[in-house]
Amino acid sequence: MDAHELPPQEKALLTHELLNKTYKRLKLEKRRDHMHELISTMLSHRTNHKDEETAFYTMMERFGDWEGVMNADFEALADAIKTTRYPGQKGPQIQETLRIIKAERGEFNIDFLDDLPVPEALAWLTKLPGVGPKTATLLLLFNFHKPVMPVDTHVFRISQRVGLIGAKVTANKAHDLLLKMLPEEPVELFNFHVHMLRHGQRVCTFFAPKCEECVLHNICNYYEDVRFKEIDKAA
Ligand code: SF4
Repeated sequence: MDAHELPPQEKALLTHELLNKTYKRLKLEKRRDHMHELISTMLSHRTNHKDEETAFYTMMERFGDWEGVMNADFEALADAIKTTRYPGQKGPQIQETLRIIKAERGEFNIDFLDDLPVPEALAWLTKLPGVGPKTATLLLLFNFHKPVMPVDTHVFRISQRVGLIGAKVTANKAHDLLLKMLPEEPVELFNFHVHMLRHGQRVCTFFAPKCEECVLHNICNYYEDVRFKEIDKAA
């Protein structure tokens, strides 16, 4: 059997192994305070890290604390976070999220998520405005070290191209499927996610993936079905 015909789970484990050898293994350490991480992740949607940080620190500098952000004038908040995409949408979503947390918890603190089972923590987070499965899983994996798999555009694209998931699988469904295929330890899921992100930025890019230099090409359906035949035809 050719390697690209392997079952998805074997391919997922091989993908993890090959990317572990290619990119630096990282420790899973809490990055930031949980509230900071939640709001920063909301700000990061379609925004690079530098612009997200600029928005976060400008917002905190102008409004002082979470109470100040929650009660800020709509236009003033949008202006403070204008380095992000969609500041006019993100501002009210952040304010409403802060209102919900304050009303439910009595303070701006979401440490209680640590004690909830994963499905309940995910359900609670995804009820917040502007918080979808990607933001919720990023927060739960990166900060709370829960066994979840954030499926961003890079994880999704590479998983489809290699053949870990089918062409019609949604990002939400991909989360469950990938989780079943990979080792369950959060540090492994974290490294898989971060390595797929790196690989998607550097090699398996949206346009013109660099298949010839890719460590996954022996197991990749896209390479076998599309690129390899094109190269063959051109020869
Ligand atoms: S072989 Fe090409 S399509 Fe497949 S994972 Fe590598 S870069 Fe992406």
